[in-house]
Amino acid sequence: MKNTVITFKQAKEKAPCIVFIDEIDAIGKKRDNQLSTNDEREQTLNQLLTEMDGFEGNNGVIILAATNRPESLDPALTRPGRFDRRVPVELPDLAGREAILRVHAKKIKVAPDVDLAKIARMASGASGAELANIVNEAALRAVRDGRASATQADLEESIEVVIAGYQKKNSILTTREKLIVSYHEIGHALVAAKQTNSAPVQKITIIPRTSGALGYTMQVEDGNHYLMSREEIENKIATFTGGRAAEEVVFHSVTTGASNDIEQATKLARAMITRYGMSDNFDMVALETVTNQYLGGDASLACSAETQAEIDRQVVDLVKKQHAKAVRILQENRPKLDELAKFLYEKETITGEEFMEILNQ
Ligand code: ZN
Repeated sequence: MKNTVITFKQAKEKAPCIVFIDEIDAIGKKRDNQLSTNDEREQTLNQLLTEMDGFEGNNGVIILAATNRPESLDPALTRPGRFDRRVPVELPDLAGREAILRVHAKKIKVAPDVDLAKIARMASGASGAELANIVNEAALRAVRDGRASATQADLEESIEVVIAGYQKKNSILTTREKLIVSYHEIGHALVAAKQTNSAPVQKITIIPRTSGALGYTMQVEDGNHYLMSREEIENKIATFTGGRAAEEVVFHSVTTGASNDIEQATKLARAMITRYGMSDNFDMVALETVTNQYLGGDASLACSAETQAEIDRQVVDLVKKQHAKAVRILQENRPKLDELAKFLYEKETITGEEFMEILNQ
């Protein structure tokens, strides 16, 4: 509380100036009416509100704050005269990612042939902080290898580090595990490639990561996608089930390796029904509302218990149908599945071009 007073006193002395408060939700959370409240935090908030009221419109102090949880802020904070303007900062799009990468790349030495546009395309969904991290990691990798500048390969490897964690150098998969992971990843890639409108495969690897992933398939969209058709989402679900489908087709048994795929496929299927109006009988009724568009978008159901049960049934049907489609695709392309899995098993990392070359032979 004392700090708040000092900060604002300094700000008035130093005007014109900007006071920036990061993670404002730490002190600006909604006050509740319970008896046992966090006294200190509440006092700080009250102090902040008082200080903000003490500013005239033209005394040259601008107060700026950032939060990932705008809905958790005390309404008193966002009232006119206090924080009266809201600027939503979404994840950067393709052009935005490239621009952000350019800013950070200026701070390190990069090789002249580095293609930041391609890096931006590969890092789809990355936040500004993650992009900064990617450039940092690339510089570290170059230094470790005793090179004078960061190369394209450094940057591409850094994307994987930021997304999937470091390569686990000494984790040992048994021969059989390695074979299963190879088939699993080729299963994803093959199902994606055999459907229309799938993002092209960029890279497939079975080198384990510190994040726990035993392998992964990286797909890269050509540009920005703001709208997805029903067919595209269904194809995406089929691609998520492709890994497990390959295990079933080849080994007639299943492993725990598909837990993340299952989560992703279920999330998409549920969203199709409850949020995108893509089911046959619920039409355009919102069954779910997103309460926090930041931080992954928590959603809450807004329907009766019977409807919930019906939604669950439809989610299962949807995933089952796409899973069956993936199995069919893999059975129809069994020779290619074997050939590609063998190739990945031997090389451990293959590029999208190598994958397509074998597929189209
Ligand atoms: Zn998988």
